[in-house]
Formats: sequence, C-alpha cells, structure tokens
Amino acid sequence: MRVLVLNCGSSSVKFAVIDTKTKESIASGLVENIGVNGHTKAKGPEGKIDFNFDCPTHAEAVDQVKKFLDSQKLTPTIEAIGHRVVHGGKYIKSEKVTQEVINYIRSITLFAPLHEPAHATGMECATKFFPGLPQVAVFDTAFHQTMPEKAFLYGIPYKFYEQDAIRRYGAHGTSHRFVTAEACKVLGTKPEETCLITAHLGNGSSCSAILNGQCVDTTMGFTPLEGLIMGTRSGSLDPAILFYISKKYGKEYGTIDQLDHLVNKESGLLGLSGLSNDMRTLTQAASEGNKHAQIALDVFCYRLTREIGGIAMALPRIDAIVFTGGIGENSSYVRKQALENLKILGYQIDDERNSQSGKESNHLITKDGTPKAIVVATNEELLIALDTEALVK
Ligand code: ADP
Repeated sequence: MRVLVLNCGSSSVKFAVIDTKTKESIASGLVENIGVNGHTKAKGPEGKIDFNFDCPTHAEAVDQVKKFLDSQKLTPTIEAIGHRVVHGGKYIKSEKVTQEVINYIRSITLFAPLHEPAHATGMECATKFFPGLPQVAVFDTAFHQTMPEKAFLYGIPYKFYEQDAIRRYGAHGTSHRFVTAEACKVLGTKPEETCLITAHLGNGSSCSAILNGQCVDTTMGFTPLEGLIMGTRSGSLDPAILFYISKKYGKEYGTIDQLDHLVNKESGLLGLSGLSNDMRTLTQAASEGNKHAQIALDVFCYRLTREIGGIAMALPRIDAIVFTGGIGENSSYVRKQALENLKILGYQIDDERNSQSGKESNHLITKDGTPKAIVVATNEELLIALDTEALVK
C-alpha cells in the first residue's frame, strides 16, 4: 500500500510517500514558514522542486503537497494518509481519524500548544484536498501508555492528575517502538522476552526503558521538555530556577511566555555552548579547543548517562542499549562518552565498531563478551505508514 505520511507542525508540513511493501520512501519534502514566507522543497520520481510561494495557512501548504504529488503522478496511487501526532492524551494506540478524534486532539491543545491545533487542522485540510482517502492518527505518546502509575505520576497534589490529567506522557514513542522491534531482530530475540534501553538522540532526545517489549519508563514527561539536555531545550531542571530568574530578570524573563522561550528555545546545547544547538558543530568546535562547546558536550553526555542509569532501575536486566536518532546514529563521540560513563554496568566500547556506527558488526559497538550496545536507524514514517495500512485494511 502507498501511504502519504503527513507531519503537520506549527509552521511546517513535512511529508513522505511510503510504499509499505518495499518499505521505501517514494517521495518526500516539506512546506515551511507557513504564515510568514512560504517555502517548499521536495523530491520524487519525476524530479525536485525548491521555491518560495504565498502560504498564509496550513490549507495552502497541504494544497501545495497535493500539487507536488499531482506533478509526480503519485496522487492516484495513494491509498491512505497517516498523520504524526505529538500528543495523544488518552489514546493508547493509533486511531482512524474521525471528527471525534479531531475534536479530542483540539481539546488537548494545552498539552502541546504549538502542535495539536496544527495536527487537527492538517487532518481537516487532508480531508479537503484528498477527499475519500482514509486517514489514521499515530500518536507519539501512545507507546508510553504502558508505564505504571508509579512511573508516570509527579510528586504534586493528586488532584492535578485527576482533574487535569497532569502526568508523564513521554514522547518519540513512534521511534522508541520502531527501534525496539528492529533491535529485537538484530539481537535475534522475541520482543516479549527482551529488555532494552532505547536512546533516541536528535534535536529532541529521550530514553525509554523497555520491559518485555513494553515501555515501563521514559525520560520525557508531561511535555517533551523533561529529561535529557537537548538542542535548545533545557531538559529537567529545578523548577525553582524559573522563579528565581523571573524575579531577578523580570524585563527579559518576567512572563510565562518568556520563560517558556528560555527553557524551550534558548537552553540545552545552544544555551550551554553559546554557539550552536547542532552536535556536529559542537563536536568540531570542541576538538578545536572551544571550551564552552566542550562543556555542552560533557553536560549532554553526563545527563544522558544519569538518565539511563535512572530508568534502568525499572528493568531486571538490560539486553542492549539501543542508540538512534541523528546523534544516536551518527555521533561516535556521544556514544563513546555515554558508555564510558556507564562503566559501572560493564560496558566496553569497541572503537572500531563505534567509528563505523556498528555497520560492519551487525549494529554492535561494544566488545564481544561485554554488555551490548547497538546502533539502529529509526524510521518513524515507515511505522506510521505500517500502522495506517493495518488500520485501514
Ligand atoms: P530531529 O530531532 O529534528 O529529527 P535529528 O534526529 O535529525 O533531529 O538529529 C539532529 C542532530 O543530529 C543534530 O544535533 C545533528 O548535529 C546531529 N547529527 C547529524 N549527523 C551527525 C553526525 N554525523 N555526527 C554528529 N551529530 C550528527
């Protein structure tokens, strides 16, 4: 089946056409700067596009995706649409898109203010521009719904959970779920008998503890801000820091919006280094002696180890640590530092395997006879397409 996978963000629409049989991406691209100065870039079997255009709302963006697919002669071949949804609230698995699902997604806007309205609008636009095609919503939080109460509750008055559903939901669930299945193939084990730590390290980063194929803890929380140090997000911090900064720097950081911006956009690797949120830039700069780039790397890697250590306590054993995401798949530096920090658990990196991202050693980057760490490429679009196929067939 050919599935159009749509990822509607606050100011962008990313898309891919996936063939579930071959597991190949046939076309992909994005429309960005919606509402500002629209720009699209895409490639498909008939060629590439890259231009600016007037794109005031998501409707024009989805219309542009449709025009591109028309130009590539792909539209008639598409049988279903799968949507990536950042926050699924109550949903524990993927769902067929209905008006009820769209309404529910809008109703939890407060959980992910930038994403949920965009997802709901994206589904309505898809209905308009691709009439008659079945649609499925795949939620980034769904995989984490197997966490026990002791792992998902916060130490705040219980009424906030009862009245407002404030709890940990986690994120990147589609990636953690995909790499769990892939890791089991690599290890030659059954998911229901496998215990893993999955580390999705990209611009946003999170780790999950997987017990017999199911998530039992994860580092992201009520929103994707908690846990690891990320590109521009602070990860976990003492909330009292915000009270202090707000009182002391009222002009710059006095409002909730300013504080929101501080911890989501000005912090993490960017904030610590004062240089960049990009791991490649920082690794290069640190190797040339940039002190602040090195500090950012050290904090990133140490926090990663500390969080892995924390969620590992949810497991009886670790069959493998699985690295994925842009950093997890490509940064031999981060993987080496993280595993060296985890020496207490016996990890011994094999430098040659690590430098090849495990490509020559069936994904393995640790020495034979020592605990396993592997590198697995994530593919969220493929999983969204496969879920879509399973639900619409
Ligand atoms: P997103 O969360 O936006 O999907 P990605 O998973 O693509 O992000 O990860 C982006 C991060 O991966 C960036 O910090 C980038 O520097 C890093 N990255 C990509 N390639 C490499 C590489 N070869 N070495 C180190 N870091 C890399």
